[in-house]
Amino acid sequence: MSESSAQVSSRSATQSVICTNVTQRYNDDEGLFSSGGHTVTALDDISLGVDSGEVVGIAGPSGSGKSTLLHVLAGLATPTEGTVKIRGTELAALSRRRRTAFRRANVGMVFQRFHLLPALTARENVALPLVQEGVSRGRRRERAAELLEAVGLGDRRDHRPGSLSGGEQQRVAIGRALAADPAVVIADEPTGELDRATGDRVLNLLTEISDDHAVVIASHDTQTLDRTDRVVWLRDGKRE
Ligand code: ADP
Ligand code: MG
Repeated sequence: MSESSAQVSSRSATQSVICTNVTQRYNDDEGLFSSGGHTVTALDDISLGVDSGEVVGIAGPSGSGKSTLLHVLAGLATPTEGTVKIRGTELAALSRRRRTAFRRANVGMVFQRFHLLPALTARENVALPLVQEGVSRGRRRERAAELLEAVGLGDRRDHRPGSLSGGEQQRVAIGRALAADPAVVIADEPTGELDRATGDRVLNLLTEISDDHAVVIASHDTQTLDRTDRVVWLRDGKRE
């Protein structure tokens, strides 16, 4: 074995998230997502590994498979073919229940439209993942306050999402994604709803946290992609 392939294999063993030969097909019998055929191949033989310390962009036109890839990497969807490992654990080997718990502990998600619970304060939203983790109320409050401080919202912690700007809501969502200190943070078009300056601030946060987390950002915005360490381009579910 050459030195470089030895390096590749020892490196992939420790990668925070790695997918190998992943194909995802959807049955689309009602023709909602395709005109003629009944099967949509949303991902076609994709392999990708992301380490802690890296920010990887997933790029490509609308419908190219970006969101599907993020769902598969996050363990939200099980691919038709191929494997996904997070911190060395193969997701398909876990029961559905253990996979949910594993995902909660190891994956933080950030969405384009923030997905905060409107009835909860910023602090309660950030603390929410820790409720299911069985963390004590006192510790949850402390951790949420720390995270809101870290995302620059220490003075907004008792505000509900409705009284926060889009950029502030996205920073709360990043705080929530980090609450359980996951290996991987996955963001689907995180700046899609934000103006340039606000989006930039959100990207600053996502790149700062990559020191301790693997960060994967899907976007079709070049300004966002420019901030990542490398970009994986998709077209019709294939890597370009
Ligand atoms: P992107 O995020 O790049 O816009 P998606 O991953 O959302 O792309 O979609 C990839 C392809 O899979 C598209 O052709 C889309 O129409 C199709 N698709 C996505 N979700 C479903 C689904 N639940 N059922 C059928 N087809 C789907
Ligand atoms: Mg998408």
